[in-house]
Amino acid sequence: MGETGIPVPLWAERVADGLGRGPHVVVTGISPSGNIHNLREVLVAEAVANALRARGEEVRFVFHADTIDPLRKVAPGVPASFEEFFGHSLSRVPDPKGCHASYAEHFLVPFEEALREMEMEIEVLRSHELYESGVYTEVTREAVEHTDELRAILQEASGRRMPEHWSPYLPRRTGGRLTGARVLEHVPAEHSVVFVDEDGFEEAANYSNGEGKLGWRVELAARWKALGVTFEPFGKDHTSRGGSTDTADRMSREVFHYPIPGRYEYEWISIKGQGAMSSSKGIVLLPEDLLRIMPPDALRRMMLGRDPARALELDLWEGFPRFMDEFNAETGGSEVPFNHLALVAQTVGEDVEAAASMLRRGGYEAAAGDPEKLARDLRYARNWARDWAPESMRIGLLEPGASRAAAAGLDAEQREYLAAVTEKIGPEMDGDEVQDLLYSTAVGRGLKPKKAFAAVYGVLLGKTSGPKAGPFIAGLPPEEVRERFSV
Ligand SMILES: [Zn+2]
Repeated sequence: MGETGIPVPLWAERVADGLGRGPHVVVTGISPSGNIHNLREVLVAEAVANALRARGEEVRFVFHADTIDPLRKVAPGVPASFEEFFGHSLSRVPDPKGCHASYAEHFLVPFEEALREMEMEIEVLRSHELYESGVYTEVTREAVEHTDELRAILQEASGRRMPEHWSPYLPRRTGGRLTGARVLEHVPAEHSVVFVDEDGFEEAANYSNGEGKLGWRVELAARWKALGVTFEPFGKDHTSRGGSTDTADRMSREVFHYPIPGRYEYEWISIKGQGAMSSSKGIVLLPEDLLRIMPPDALRRMMLGRDPARALELDLWEGFPRFMDEFNAETGGSEVPFNHLALVAQTVGEDVEAAASMLRRGGYEAAAGDPEKLARDLRYARNWARDWAPESMRIGLLEPGASRAAAAGLDAEQREYLAAVTEKIGPEMDGDEVQDLLYSTAVGRGLKPKKAFAAVYGVLLGKTSGPKAGPFIAGLPPEEVRERFSV
């Protein structure tokens, strides 16, 4: 356990081992250009920050939201008319839905709220504010002074010639667009550059108060120095040859004379049945949605997997109950199998007392005894059943009338079987005993178990199959079962 009470995984301990003494600044940078889904990156950084905190290191953990970045493409769900804002900082583009102060805030705020709900000790910094308050002033000055060296590094990495008038600094021109511009003059004493815009007009931009930004590849290295970064995780798209970490490493060493921060390369997450997460394809799982079906620590565990250096396929359908059961077993959580809890949640609605008595009858005394936790767990289970559960897990106990209609489709053998079960079933029986009874009664009457259970599921749920019948039936009020079995 770290100081925060969140378990520190082994891999994070190993990363922290390699980072040496602090003080440490752990950073993760994400652009709010659309729905923010890469929680894995933030969680990798958090795990390392916690590993460092656990050894008594001083740690600043920063989420660098790239709010000054220009809008480059229109996110799914945003009107195509937003193309008119291409080149404008995300912090200056209007909210497409009109509910927040800007385009950036619209996507950033829900993510920030999810981090708060997870009780993450993280500072969310907005890059437009960092530029406006002068955090980037010194590194911008250095970058502009070393334009030639930076250009050479980019050319060598990309194998392409950079434009003749390339500048590491993108000034904001009068209309508001951030553009690559031909910089004519640098006036360090005034923190300003004079540049020629696309239309041939000369303008000046003051880089100490947000009148522009560094190009993103240069900014990556400059950010390490400006914030004193000692660790940053990266997805594999950044760390390929010639990728942004390649150029940033050289810029950091050769131009900014700043030691390259510790690194961890994490692999992608894909969603079973949908493919790799991608905000441009609209394949995303948002933290706020995931927190509706599981507690924060389960979400940490799910997103990180055993080892975030490995690709992970998330299964929120059939595989989810098993994931929750494993999580609960390892963390001393609820002893009720998640499938059963989903069943209970769907049977009783929001009635926590009814759920508690169902659980008691099923032998889950401890879970029944903590109503507050039970209410929360039922909410997770109910939301999962509604949003994600496979059809076979979506159930509702049939009303007596519907049950009688379902019974009309059974043959004589099946009806006699249900009657025989009704005679023997008792309120004191637990789930296993009921399961045994259902099975042995079928065998004793020469009825195939499959056909027998189809009758059971038919009159209870209106289906031919369903959750394990014994525990489900043991959890129901006996008179409800008897009424439906007497057909
Ligand atoms: Zn909004």
